[in-house]
Amino acid sequence: SVTKIPASEHGINPREIDKKARTILKSLTDAGYEAYLVGGGVRDLLLGFHPKDFDIATSATPEQVKEVLPSTRIIGRRFRLAHVHFGREYFEVATFRAPHDDSDKGQVGQHGRIIHDNVYGTVLEDAYRRDFSINALFYDLQKGEVLDFVGAMEDLEKRQLRMIGDPVVRYREDPVRMIRAIRFAAKLGLSIEPASEAPIRELSSLLGNIAPARLFDEALKLFHSGQAIKTLELLREYHLLEYLFPQAEKSLNEDMDNDGNEGSYTKLVYAALTNTDKRIRADMPVTPAFLFAVMLWKRVREGSIMYRELGNPALQSVHLAASDAFGEQVKCISVPRRFSNMTREIWTLQGLFPFKNERRVLRFLEHKRFRAAYDFMCLRVRAGELPEEECEWWTLIQEVDAAEKKAMCLAAS
Ligand code: ATP
Ligand code: MG
Repeated sequence: SVTKIPASEHGINPREIDKKARTILKSLTDAGYEAYLVGGGVRDLLLGFHPKDFDIATSATPEQVKEVLPSTRIIGRRFRLAHVHFGREYFEVATFRAPHDDSDKGQVGQHGRIIHDNVYGTVLEDAYRRDFSINALFYDLQKGEVLDFVGAMEDLEKRQLRMIGDPVVRYREDPVRMIRAIRFAAKLGLSIEPASEAPIRELSSLLGNIAPARLFDEALKLFHSGQAIKTLELLREYHLLEYLFPQAEKSLNEDMDNDGNEGSYTKLVYAALTNTDKRIRADMPVTPAFLFAVMLWKRVREGSIMYRELGNPALQSVHLAASDAFGEQVKCISVPRRFSNMTREIWTLQGLFPFKNERRVLRFLEHKRFRAAYDFMCLRVRAGELPEEECEWWTLIQEVDAAEKKAMCLAAS
């Protein structure tokens, strides 16, 4: 059964929905199909947040979407989706899907070719295959109504995440839903309804079976949500961090002394994530390279010292430690090369900060990764790993003119 909530009750102002998304909705309904705004877009509007994307669900197949909206590109092999383009920007338009086809498995044909297993369904079925009730609301632009098939409005009122169906079954079907629970709880300030919360700790190890490539995207969404600290704490509380960043989990555990005082690594992580949150909220860019630089730092720092003691040169020692750390990390989360290379640079460049002679300083300031390395070094200062003066000196030298730079270097070397 469906509850239809009229505009007077749900309060969504259609003008808050991206104009292009509204155009798509109107085109599809004018052509005789059902089309709704769905998922995070509806949820965020109802909770008073600004949605970051507007996903659309429709009764039209991807081919039919393309007939109505010629700028459509059909993507995906197993689950075909329509991307309706407006120049570089696009909106995802998904055909209603029956509930059972969302696992990671996929059917493979005789010759190893992936067979299309689109199982199209009704809007009701599409609601039930979704994860949390509040992610399964459909907004009908034409009528101004919100359709609720799963009792989501009650959960919204209670500000809670409730898994649709049997939580254990749904987490087993797709363990990434456990991470999504944490992400939405942290980002939107929601609680997790007791029955949806209870199985997470016990099932956390299922995350070990998820393709590392899929977890890269999830990890970024987790830590670039604007609530990274809260996210980290929840991930640890629910025993999920050890399946995403096992070395960070271990490092954080080791970092606590017998009296429960945190060491410098914990301080570094908190300072870094606080910084990331600030940048996200100010719409400033963040790089995944920095996240990995922070998470793996304790391991890399200690590894470098060990390789150094074994007689390796300083730079080589950092590289060896970095390879060890990434070798472990990619078993859980695969990291695209361009990011891991940048992370390595952030680490290796740490070795240049002690050198204050003018020639080297000027060359370092021109390095394309100087800024990232400098930001990281200042976090180390805030964590108590390096003296205050180090960050101050390198902050000042960027601001002064050539003559003063020369004087600063002379005074320091
Ligand atoms: P946001 O985009 O703000 O991170 P979202 O809820 O829109 O949040 P998406 O990943 O964009 O998240 O997914 C869109 C919708 O697809 C979700 O709201 C949910 O209904 C459904 N969905 C996504 N992932 C899953 C999943 N693993 N299991 C079931 N349903 C899912
Ligand atoms: Mg979304």
